[in-house]
Amino acid sequence: MLRGYPFGESHRIVVLVSPNHGKLRTVAKGVRKTKSRFGGRLEPFTHVDLVLYEGKNLDTITQVSTINAFGELRNHLDRVLAASTMLEVVDAVVQEGEPSMRMFLLLQRGLTVLDHREPHPDLVTSFLLKAADIIGVAPSFESCAGCGKSEGLKRFSFAAGGSLCESCRTPGAYSLRDGLVPHLAAVAAADLTALPDTNPSMSSEALGVTRRFMEHHLERELKSLVMLDG
Ligand SMILES: [Zn+2]
Repeated sequence: MLRGYPFGESHRIVVLVSPNHGKLRTVAKGVRKTKSRFGGRLEPFTHVDLVLYEGKNLDTITQVSTINAFGELRNHLDRVLAASTMLEVVDAVVQEGEPSMRMFLLLQRGLTVLDHREPHPDLVTSFLLKAADIIGVAPSFESCAGCGKSEGLKRFSFAAGGSLCESCRTPGAYSLRDGLVPHLAAVAAADLTALPDTNPSMSSEALGVTRRFMEHHLERELKSLVMLDG
C-alpha cells in the first residue's frame, strides 16, 4: 500500500501499487470506526492481498490479508524515511491501469532490505537509479551523454541525461568532484542487497545529484527525501 486518506464520514481512500494493474485507487468502507474489520492491515508499506468489489468510480475493498507488514522496518525512523521515499517515487511514476511489475518488484525488494538491516548510505540512491532505469531515463555514467567518450566525466546535466565531459558541458551542468561518477555507476549497477562500501561524504553527494535528477524528470519535489537529507 502506498497511502490513504479520509473519505466521507468513516471511509478511507486507499492507494496501492499492484504488479499487473499499476496504481489502484480503492475505497475501504467504515475503516475509521473503532471496530473496523480491516484492523491495521491497510497501512503504508504493507504488502496485502485484496479482494475488490468493482464500483462505478472506485473499487471497494471487501477482504484484506497481509502478506508482509514489514514490521521491523517500522521500528526505526531512518528506515521509515527511506521506505517513504521509495513509496513516493513509485507513487509518482506508476500510472493507473498500466502494468508495473518491475517497479512493484523493485519496491518489494527495497522494503525487504529495509526490514532486515540498517539502510546502507547508498540504498535510496541505488533505488532511485533503478527506478530511473525502469522508466527509461537512466542517467549515463559510463560515457559522456554528448560525445560518448568515457574519460574526464566531470559534469552532470539533468537535461542531457547524465555525465558530460568538459568539451560537451552545457550551461548549468553541475561540476562533480573526482570519483563521484564511478561511485554513481557502481551504485546504479549493484544489487540493493550488495551495495559496495563507500565513504559517507560521497554517498550524500551522490544522493543529492540523483535526487535532483529524479525531481527534474518527475517535475515534482520528493518530499520524504527532504526529511531524509536532514
Ligand atoms: Zn563529451
